[in-house]
Amino acid sequence: GWVNFNKFYDHIIDRFEMTKNDDITFVRDIPNENYYVDIDEDKITQVLYNIISNSLKYSPEGGQVTFRIGTIESFIVVSVSDQGVGIPKNVIDKIFDRFYRVDKARSRNLGGTGLGLAIAKEMVVAHGGRIWAESMEGKGTTVFFTLPYEQDEEDEWS
Ligand code: ATP
Ligand code: MG
Repeated sequence: GWVNFNKFYDHIIDRFEMTKNDDITFVRDIPNENYYVDIDEDKITQVLYNIISNSLKYSPEGGQVTFRIGTIESFIVVSVSDQGVGIPKNVIDKIFDRFYRVDKARSRNLGGTGLGLAIAKEMVVAHGGRIWAESMEGKGTTVFFTLPYEQDEEDEWS
């Protein structure tokens, strides 16, 4: 069904904010202008859960996690940026493959199966969007995804 994505995203971030460690700071860069998306809420919640969980799990030193919404043509661009370990350039596209994990050599006993982003990709693509990541090793990672949107009708008149 149709959802006000700004509110929906805010709620999900609130839930993570309640349980996060104090060494992580959340920054929200979410416009006031409302974007409406026609989504399966449970599935897009899962997408965000998988992406945000990664940003916390792969940020051993804490730092900032920044949440954004932008637009490109008729799509919203949702992003989550962290200041964690980063991902090597040559494997940045592989992280969306089933069971792929970068951190074999990273010696941390981080749990996981390597399915989180593969599931996220499947769900985003089913909604007509796409998903990708940009990263610098040792600096951090941003995961982006798009969804088709409609602008708030009231905003067109203001
Ligand atoms: P699961 O999500 O199934 O618990 P996972 O986190 O290992 O396990 P994915 O979420 O699919 O699996 O991520 C795949 C791999 O991509 C991770 O193992 C990790 O190496 C890398 N990765 C994903 N997100 C980040 C991030 N924000 N920073 C650094 N590396 C990341
Ligand atoms: Mg994961």
